Amino acid sequence: MAGSRTSLSQMALLELKDLHVALEDGTEIVKGVDLSVNTDEVHAVMGPNGSGKSTLAYALMGHPAYEITSGQILFEGEDLTEMEADERAQRGLFLAFQYPHAVPGVTVTSFLRSAINAIRKAKNGGEDDPIPIPEFRKELLAEMDRLKVSRDLASRYLNQGFSGGEKKRVEILQMAMLKPRIAILDETDSGLDIDALRVVAGGVKELVGSEMGALVITHYQRILDYITPDFVHVFLDGRIVEEGGPELAHKLEAEGYERYEVKA
Ligand code: ADP
Ligand code: MG
Repeated sequence: MAGSRTSLSQMALLELKDLHVALEDGTEIVKGVDLSVNTDEVHAVMGPNGSGKSTLAYALMGHPAYEITSGQILFEGEDLTEMEADERAQRGLFLAFQYPHAVPGVTVTSFLRSAINAIRKAKNGGEDDPIPIPEFRKELLAEMDRLKVSRDLASRYLNQGFSGGEKKRVEILQMAMLKPRIAILDETDSGLDIDALRVVAGGVKELVGSEMGALVITHYQRILDYITPDFVHVFLDGRIVEEGGPELAHKLEAEGYERYEVKA
């Protein structure tokens, strides 16, 4: 599935170099992470609760509550470390957010259109450049067919009464519409039923290719029953403590994280 690993002289699409991230009170959570992700690669970052996985994901997207205290985020060789979230999104980083709340009066369609228009505006130097409605509709219908999302979903209010699987369908649809180069999926441990796991895994499989790579952050090994990562990174207490191929995920499934905790 993956293309061959880039040689050392060649830079990966996304490179984290000795990345350190602290909370607003100065507590260091991510303690030096090196990671390279290319298109056509699925990377799984796996670690126990509280190890700092979401902190890493938010820091990658430029969430203001998470401060990069040292190290770098390079994207296509460009340093994103000091950039705002919208500038990162505009360059092609995407974080599948959890939307915990329903948004009354906002349909899935209008939500997706605003997300696209926000990126187009940023790309257009801050001037509005809305996607023409017929073009948007055509693309939306094509992606819904491709990802097997029911058309009813598009006209419903965002997350109002949505199942876990439906929320994930919207996230994956958003990913397909925004066409990021690197998608970061932070799968929280709660509320991911089998239907939702299948949707996420199916969407990642469908979208990862020559145009996109993915970083799937997860506590559970379960999602890996549905998708085979090309690279697995075990994350513990803010650091990557072991790396390998898909076999490492199976080892984790069998042995858990305890043996790392003993060493730590
Ligand atoms: P994981 O996603 O691996 O479960 P998190 O990154 O969510 O881990 O959390 C790592 C640690 O950082 C935890 O101790 C958590 O309480 C703390 N933390 C994360 N974000 C915040 C925040 N915004 N405010 C306070 N503490 C936080
Ligand atoms: Mg988390």
